[in-house]
Amino acid sequence: MEKNFDVVIVGGGLTGLSAAHFLVKRDPGLKIGIVEKEARTGGAIQTFRRDGYQAEWGPHGFLNNTEESLALLRDLGLDREMQTAPLGDFRRFICFGGKLEPLPQSPKMLLSTPLLSLPGKLRLLADLWKKPRMEDQTIGAWAAYRFGAGVLPMVDVAVTGTFAGDLHRLSIDAVMPGVRRLEKEAGSLLRGVIKKKKTAPSGARGLPAMINFPAGMERFTDLLAAEGKGDLMLSTTVTELGRDDDGWLVGTDHDSLRAPRLVIALPVNASLRLLGKLDQPPVAEVPTARIANVVMGYGREARVPRGFGYLAPETEGRFALGAMFSSHMFPDRCPEGHVLLEALVGGRRHPERLELDDQEMISRVYDDISRLMPLPAPPVFTAVLRSAGAIPQLEMDHPALLEWRRSAEKKFSGLHVCGFGWDGIGMNDVIKSAARAAEALLAEKRPESGEAPVKPVYF
Ligand SMILES: Cc1cc2nc3c(=O)[nH]c(=O)nc-3n(C[C@H](O)[C@H](O)[C@H](O)COP(=O)(O)OP(=O)(O)OC[C@H]3O[C@@H](n4cnc5c(N)ncnc54)[C@H](O)[C@@H]3O)c2cc1C
Repeated sequence: MEKNFDVVIVGGGLTGLSAAHFLVKRDPGLKIGIVEKEARTGGAIQTFRRDGYQAEWGPHGFLNNTEESLALLRDLGLDREMQTAPLGDFRRFICFGGKLEPLPQSPKMLLSTPLLSLPGKLRLLADLWKKPRMEDQTIGAWAAYRFGAGVLPMVDVAVTGTFAGDLHRLSIDAVMPGVRRLEKEAGSLLRGVIKKKKTAPSGARGLPAMINFPAGMERFTDLLAAEGKGDLMLSTTVTELGRDDDGWLVGTDHDSLRAPRLVIALPVNASLRLLGKLDQPPVAEVPTARIANVVMGYGREARVPRGFGYLAPETEGRFALGAMFSSHMFPDRCPEGHVLLEALVGGRRHPERLELDDQEMISRVYDDISRLMPLPAPPVFTAVLRSAGAIPQLEMDHPALLEWRRSAEKKFSGLHVCGFGWDGIGMNDVIKSAARAAEALLAEKRPESGEAPVKPVYF
């Protein structure tokens, strides 16, 4: 059977559902089809509940510093339901020299931190005189050039906490295009940051907060799906894309779909598998990082420092990448009088650790973490959550891949590609990516329908 739509969206994760929301909000008359391979929506977002414990298979939180995400939360009424953990109140720790040290979150903390020697602190200022290198570099090479090798453990934990990635492989141009722009425009990153602070509107300063919901992260995608902004086709896999004079032909394992416009809202590798048949990309696949979440409940004798959690740089040689002190940040994640820790294992540098069975993984994590904080007794609750989602790594090929996407979107009219690993990997990144795709699609549609042209937001 053939079904006709104005727009077909491939993928019912956060990106695809957000794209449908943004499109219908602006043009309620659009007939949208959303195709999702699994029997549930949400993709990488999935909440775990058992015996009074609540944890996450995928994302644990996102920052309240992105307007597109905040608008989406308001539209869904989730701004009244969300829980926030301000980073100013919930310190992040770094494992350094086998101990937990607070990560500096302000220039004042940076001056007094034991994480950098005095020469290391003075070396930070050399950034003011270092000419920007125009070519792309790994994040590690870029940070060492600008601020000295002393900062690498702190940079390492920043990329571990977001990408579960390797600072010596991720591309600075792909991961931090805004930072690079500041550096290049001002001739130094510090100069750029100072200039930006001076021009920032008052009230825009201060640290953001992490968001989750009492019912867990999947509440977000469940509500988006329940809005019914499109005809949702679950348990349906898109297997082929084709084109003719009328637009796109989307082949699935059930029906064939037709639409003049197509939004691919898939993780980058799944997109490449479909689009690669139409136009050869510069790489067939991007590297990914998988992680396991070792969920542990402890009794009241556990002494877990108040804070967000900790991360360990590779140089510390620890087993776990770090752990979140989840019940400190978000209450009611575990039974009264207990503490919930969620430790992360694996990542780009240690996929072999994911081969361990659950018992071995739990015991290695307990052994590792109990040397960092007083955990006198083993956990009273454990679960190992192995997400099917893999975090795409924006490494040195990524700028070429973005160039290829630009040319494919130009070559194939009505095509819009967004989602996990294209314009970033975090929830805020993919929501922005969906908003941008919706905006571009509507801007393209307006002249045909004779409506007033839309002012593009992002370009
Ligand atoms: C383990 C892990 C931890 C994370 N932690 C955080 C965090 O703490 N904070 C944060 O901000 N972000 C985090 N992220 C990233 C966040 O989960 C993603 O940004 C977001 O969920 C991506 O949404 P998406 O819709 O682009 O992709 P996905 O969630 O992968 O959804 C894509 C959907 O497309 C479907 N699909 C795939 N192929 C086809 C096909 N051929 N036909 C039809 N459907 C198809 C899939 O089934 C899936 O439902 C994490 C990710 C992972 C994996």
